Amino acid sequence: MIQAGLQNLPNETCGFLSGKYNNITTWTEMKNSSTTPNSFFIKKEFVEEALKTIEIIGEEVIALAHSHPTSNPIPSYLDLRSHPDSTVKMVIVSYKYKNPLIKCYDINKLTYKEVPIYVNK
Ligand SMILES: [Zn+2]
Repeated sequence: MIQAGLQNLPNETCGFLSGKYNNITTWTEMKNSSTTPNSFFIKKEFVEEALKTIEIIGEEVIALAHSHPTSNPIPSYLDLRSHPDSTVKMVIVSYKYKNPLIKCYDINKLTYKEVPIYVNK
């Protein structure tokens, strides 16, 4: 995920983190259909395709992840508003600093709370 985000710079990256028993093992990237920098828009068909892929390998979606190429890993108002499901966590990778920063949040309506993230690889 960190690699994918780096490759897509200066554009944002978005995808699902999935696994079993809250243990993240898989990254499924989705195509960013946004034409403006610092935002993303994923077409419904790409979301469905990604969800199907995760289902086929028998995993559950744990988090929806995206990158912040130049800003801190804090959810923006738009991030909160467009987050689809409070049972899915939000992961943000920031490339603002030399070492990418990863943060994970529980999203509840328009509020967020930082939670620890467990990534297996
Ligand atoms: Zn964001």
